[in-house]
Amino acid sequence: VFASVVQAPEDPILGVTVAYNKDPSPHKLNLGVGAYRTEEGKPLVLNVVRKAEQLLVNDPLVNFGYSLAIQENRVTTVQCLSGTGSLRVGAEFLAQHYHERTIYIPQPTWGNHPEVFTSAGLSVKTYRYYSPNTRGLDFQGLLEDLGSAPAGAIVILHACAHNPTGVDPTSDQWEQIRQLMRSKGLLPFFDSAYQGFASGSLDADAASVRMFVADGGECLAAQSYAKNMGLYGERVGALSIVCKTAEVASRVESQLKLVIRLMYSNPPIHGASIVATVLKDRDLYDEWTVELKAMADRIISMRKQLYDALQARGTPGDWSHILKQIGMFTFTGLNANQVAFMTKEYHIYMTSDGRISMAGLSTRTVPNLTEAIHAAVSN
Ligand code: PMP
Repeated sequence: VFASVVQAPEDPILGVTVAYNKDPSPHKLNLGVGAYRTEEGKPLVLNVVRKAEQLLVNDPLVNFGYSLAIQENRVTTVQCLSGTGSLRVGAEFLAQHYHERTIYIPQPTWGNHPEVFTSAGLSVKTYRYYSPNTRGLDFQGLLEDLGSAPAGAIVILHACAHNPTGVDPTSDQWEQIRQLMRSKGLLPFFDSAYQGFASGSLDADAASVRMFVADGGECLAAQSYAKNMGLYGERVGALSIVCKTAEVASRVESQLKLVIRLMYSNPPIHGASIVATVLKDRDLYDEWTVELKAMADRIISMRKQLYDALQARGTPGDWSHILKQIGMFTFTGLNANQVAFMTKEYHIYMTSDGRISMAGLSTRTVPNLTEAIHAAVSN
């Protein structure tokens, strides 16, 4: 679908360096870029920076890129400003270079989605996702709505740990969604903001994305490292676009660079270096998976503690969805009035849709939340 994307023109300043790099002359001199160079014309790495880096890096690059699409150079990845920036850059690229402007988002979804996409000029529609009755997936509704979407429409899929509902499709359901979307030529745009938080495993949480990449078709993926590396303020993210051929991917990349150049030119490097260091070093990577699992496990334990406490208190209603839902959030089913009551009487704050962040809860605070929920639903 991106075959008609043309090569973007070089940036007038960066283009100087590109031309310089290509020039084979031994006398070449680059006076184009305003960056410090040594007497030998080399960039200067300060000693103090080198020392700091040694503390960060110890192993040579380890290759984790076993995806066939990556091996075939069909994936273009650009560093973006966390998850939000990755979505925004992807949306901007699609608005400029893709033939269909309609984008489907789940109902409900992360509150920022609609505006991020409309501000890029896309036209937002919703597909059914959540059933308040079962507090689970409205799978029939989802299939019907995507089934009647116009061919080529873009579809936002939460890769795992759906926000705000904590409800994900099963792998069988993902497979059906994949088949439907591919048969209708819908373009998948994954939003992966919580990889590692659904199951505690980075691999397992990438299963949905990998399923779509494995069939050889196109897709986009916006990744955030804010949560899974605890780097909220560093704004580290990536947008990947999987194309049909390496040649198309390279033209797509040239246009992505242009989109980024016009918005903020370049992303900051510090947080990204930390992430890159962890991803490249086998020991650090392993350590990351352990720390990530500990975060995911603590959240699961909070689910159990809250559920048990509500059971013990005899709170009316079925609260098993607290155990069933996954990731950072529980979509409690509490309504806006009940939420307002809990805030006023118990000083407990949450979004008015009744979503609670399980990551904000602790063994110490479970009893007060239990009392508040009990009072709110018994009112
Ligand atoms: N997508 C979803 C589903 C999210 O929940 C969030 C964060 N709340 C984001 C994207 C944005 O992530 P970031 O903070 O990395 O911009």
